[in-house]
Amino acid sequence: MLAWYRRHRRDLPWRRTRDPYRIWVSEIMLQQTTVQTVLPYYHAFLEVFPTVEALAESPLDAVLARWSGLGYYSRARNLKRAAERVVEEHGGSIPDDRERLQRLPGIGEYTAGAILSIAFSRREPVLDGNVIRVLARLFLLAGDPRKQPLRNVLWTLAARMVPADDPGDFNQGLMELGATVCAPRSPTCGSCPLATICGAGRAGRAGEFPTPQPRPVTVPVRLAAAVISSCRGFLMVRRARAGLLADLWEFPGGEIQRRGDAQAQLARLLLDRHSLRVTVGRELARFGHSITNRRMTVIAFEARLEGARRAVPPGSSWVDPGDIGSYGVSSMALKILAGVGRQRP
Ligand code: SF4
Repeated sequence: MLAWYRRHRRDLPWRRTRDPYRIWVSEIMLQQTTVQTVLPYYHAFLEVFPTVEALAESPLDAVLARWSGLGYYSRARNLKRAAERVVEEHGGSIPDDRERLQRLPGIGEYTAGAILSIAFSRREPVLDGNVIRVLARLFLLAGDPRKQPLRNVLWTLAARMVPADDPGDFNQGLMELGATVCAPRSPTCGSCPLATICGAGRAGRAGEFPTPQPRPVTVPVRLAAAVISSCRGFLMVRRARAGLLADLWEFPGGEIQRRGDAQAQLARLLLDRHSLRVTVGRELARFGHSITNRRMTVIAFEARLEGARRAVPPGSSWVDPGDIGSYGVSSMALKILAGVGRQRP
């Protein structure tokens, strides 16, 4: 495993460092997100927040702005809160034991194992989707790997396999193997270093492990958003402090019924939710967008504030498109901006 990993590993920036802070940032960014997507964010984030102290001292808005478009924003909020705790409670040193690490927001069993083995060379296991797939195939383990008893079996196996020497490289090797060779569909068993000891590979049954689970039911949703502009920019509203996409800035709007007059529904929604009285005009953009199991059709409409005073409600702000980089905005808002094009108010 180690020899294979050293020969075949992809050259990634977080593999050129043993700095626990940088490894932590990379592990959080890589949750539910591909390497290609993470790469530019990783560099940009560390340029602005090069140390745990810099992250702890920065306002949450600045952190969310750097995370804009990466999705799963609770990761950014937890990272920031955990950085504050590391500075306040651990003098700026990232803990090097599982118990204290897992007490930090956003650090679970997997992330703790990755930081400990890669940055601190501790003999600690990791278990992510890639490792689960490799182990399930190696040992012909049937069942739902997210549930007990299989989950415990997998953790125990991962812990027993990890060697005292180079545990970080070993863990990364298992993950790399799952990401590149032991792929979910069509694993290339012919070029796998574990082919001679792999139960599923030898039996030609790789497709049966891990036991395929039913896909979550997708929910179709229709959303409408208002693009309201003035000489000061676009009117954007800030989401609540808790819940989905908390604290992010977005175009005012929300979920509407899947059928019926979208413009009329949007006008009503803006009045009810934001006390904004608007005239909704033409459609500016329409695109698909997914968050968890919600498959959304998003429609952005041009809209104009009614009334003479044109006061904007609390929690909203005029945002110049040129300053959008300093706001934490959702990917959906970025897509609307792209749809609206270079149109400047
Ligand atoms: Fe995966 Fe095939 Fe290697 Fe087994 S032999 S670990 S199924 S790639």
